[in-house]
Amino acid sequence: MQTKSKLLLFVALMLLGLGIATIINISLNFREYSIKSATQKATMAAAIVKDGLTAHMVNGIMDKRGYFLNQISSNNDKIKNLWIVRSDKVIEQYGDGFNSETVRDDIDKEVLKTGKTVQKITESTENSMLRITIPYKATVNNGPNCLSCHNVNRGDTLGAVSMEFDITNMRNAGMFTILKILALNLVFIIVVLFLINYYITPYMKLFSNMQKGIRKAYKGDFSHEFTTSVKGDAKNIIDQLNTLFRKMQETFGDIKYNLATFIPQGCVSSTDPLQEAKTIIGELSDIYKFKKTIEHDPTKEVVYQRVVDVLCNKYELSHFAFYEIDTLKATRKLIYISHGKSVCKDEVDADASLCRAHRTNTTVISSEFVNLCRECNCEGLEYICIPFTINDENSLVLSITAKDRNELNKINAFVKSIENYLEAAKPVIESKILMSKLRDTSLRDAMTGLYNRRFLEEFIDTFASQAKRENTTYSVMMLDVDFFKKVNDTYGHDIGDKVIAKIGEVLHNSIRESDLAIRYGGEEFVVLLHNATDEGTQKIASKIHSEFAKLTFDVGNGKTIQKTMSIGIAKFPRDGDSIWKCIKYADTALYVAKTTGRNKIVEYTPEMLEDEHLR
Ligand code: GH3
Ligand code: MG
Ligand code: MG
Repeated sequence: MQTKSKLLLFVALMLLGLGIATIINISLNFREYSIKSATQKATMAAAIVKDGLTAHMVNGIMDKRGYFLNQISSNNDKIKNLWIVRSDKVIEQYGDGFNSETVRDDIDKEVLKTGKTVQKITESTENSMLRITIPYKATVNNGPNCLSCHNVNRGDTLGAVSMEFDITNMRNAGMFTILKILALNLVFIIVVLFLINYYITPYMKLFSNMQKGIRKAYKGDFSHEFTTSVKGDAKNIIDQLNTLFRKMQETFGDIKYNLATFIPQGCVSSTDPLQEAKTIIGELSDIYKFKKTIEHDPTKEVVYQRVVDVLCNKYELSHFAFYEIDTLKATRKLIYISHGKSVCKDEVDADASLCRAHRTNTTVISSEFVNLCRECNCEGLEYICIPFTINDENSLVLSITAKDRNELNKINAFVKSIENYLEAAKPVIESKILMSKLRDTSLRDAMTGLYNRRFLEEFIDTFASQAKRENTTYSVMMLDVDFFKKVNDTYGHDIGDKVIAKIGEVLHNSIRESDLAIRYGGEEFVVLLHNATDEGTQKIASKIHSEFAKLTFDVGNGKTIQKTMSIGIAKFPRDGDSIWKCIKYADTALYVAKTTGRNKIVEYTPEMLEDEHLR
């Protein structure tokens, strides 16, 4: 129901209530007054009858009383019936009297018995009758002395006068008055309602117009133009509202436009620009905090972990794999997987060009085409693979799986937002890659591509404590080319350099990923074999030794030379409680190899230290 209708109904009910209350009050008063007035008249008539009868009695013409009573009732058309009754004592003394003077009903009986006036109103739809019966008492002083004729005591009831008055007219007059008041009330209510309606309608229109505008504003649309036919203050308010809304419209338009430059369109979808602005600002704030955090992270691996945290916590992704791609080598490396095994085939690791998302540099969504990606073991699953280029050499692929289309669509709605995070992480990842490259360069020997002595100095303690913690070992080998100086001296430094570079290759090809080869200085190398047995260590040492011996070096003029090397071996932690000590012991063993004929592999024994030259 409209507010206006409610108001009108309320006022109408109030006025009606008031009118009914007034009418009830008036009718009650009117009835009371009518009865009172009829009673007074009846009492007066009864007194006249009583006095008339007394006069008849005193004058000894009681036999004429019938005429007198008839005259009274016929002269007053309101008196419908008039009769008198005698008490038992009077009947006893003077007989029954006329026929009409007998007791007619219980009221007559009651009045004769109690000596008290009784009155009663009988109402029906047609008429209203007032019945009144007044006792006739024996008096002594006041009026004639009744005791002089009647054998009664003073105050005894001699008889009663009963009358019936027709008060229908009085009742009808009352009803008519009430109807008039009712009609007046109704007219008044109608006039009031009309006036209220007339004055209130423009305000109601204004309110509904305002409501419409405010509803639109809730949805972020401030384009509403407020209108009203009401003059004065209301008009001023409307003008101010219109100015305010115009300003809001302009301001939010600007905010939206400016925010869109920070976050690509479509990232946040809402028909409400206010809501949209709020979401975008929230998103920007989150991304800003993310960026600030990752800037202080030490490595790209930590940054990748942050991205994973965002994916898990903010987007609540539960099934995804995060890959790093070496664009130049076209290889792929798994950074993180949220569940057991990736749905993406292993072959892609060796040939990243098989990855459709990476190859096409577009987001691959399973719902777009049947079997869209051929390298996916994802039967019954949906997937979204997002590629992201960091620089010419590195890119990322985020492969998310969903259990059904519904979940896929939900995830798809986040893609743009996820890309914003990757975009924020991009310069940080790029700089971390660059930093690690620089660091790698400073820790590597340019001639051989192996780690340098600085690397050993920086990380050796880490390796040692890790080995102790994991209860693993390192076999330490010290290698040195025999009579290397001769090469330099005879064929020049360039040839010497070639020999050194070749050793780098031999070592690189002879050891595992978990082992480390270091150019320790000049033509001396240290090799650390992780968790190798004595037998395994010997095997690798022999392999390096023989592979190197097999090499031929072209020294010009169609001439080639071959070189040998000597190797000393010690074992950490068996031979020494630090890797440095073990390097020293491997050097001792190397010295033994050199001094006992060269071109051999010698394992360190504690007895070697007994020789004072070797200590
Ligand atoms: P030994 O069998 O006792 O080891 O005899 P050696 O001649 O090899 O003696 P040593 O190991 O002490 O010789 C190291 C030589 O290696 C000295 C230095 O001139 C040479 N050398 C060190 N660094 C380089 C380098 O980077 N390039 C070249 N070409 N020579 C280097
Ligand atoms: Mg040397
Ligand atoms: Mg040497």
